[in-house]
Amino acid sequence: MSACTDSVVGDILSSWRYDISGISPEMRIDYEEHLATCSHCRSRQRLHRAIDVTLISLSSLSILAFLLALAVIHHVEPLRTAAVVMHLEHTQLVLTLQAAAILGLLASLVAWVLVAVATPAPVYLTGVAIEQARVLHDRIPEELRSRLRA
Ligand SMILES: [Zn+2]
Repeated sequence: MSACTDSVVGDILSSWRYDISGISPEMRIDYEEHLATCSHCRSRQRLHRAIDVTLISLSSLSILAFLLALAVIHHVEPLRTAAVVMHLEHTQLVLTLQAAAILGLLASLVAWVLVAVATPAPVYLTGVAIEQARVLHDRIPEELRSRLRA
């Protein structure tokens, strides 16, 4: 991989995990310029955003999995009263399967909130969604027109 063209700016960007969405637009100009010209920082930025999106996707999937598990447990009588034995250090915790699933769901929700607060994933995903909507918006009339012609 090519080296950063300006290590001072590169170090600052690195300490921000290449997220400049939180700084003022006037301050952003210099960093955007650097990202536009420095392929090293641009690829690092892409990597970090990919990590953020992976984390938020995994925690979202985890929430869905626990919700699904709770729905299944709720509808299957023997599962509702089934016990789970957890070994924490020297103490033994006996929970019902339902309670374990609720704990798992709560942990996933906490993880999701932490990722959403600590990373620019929501801002980034909103930006991607807006970009996609614009692309679709530009494309739809064209496709409609060609279909009308056919
Ligand atoms: Zn750089």
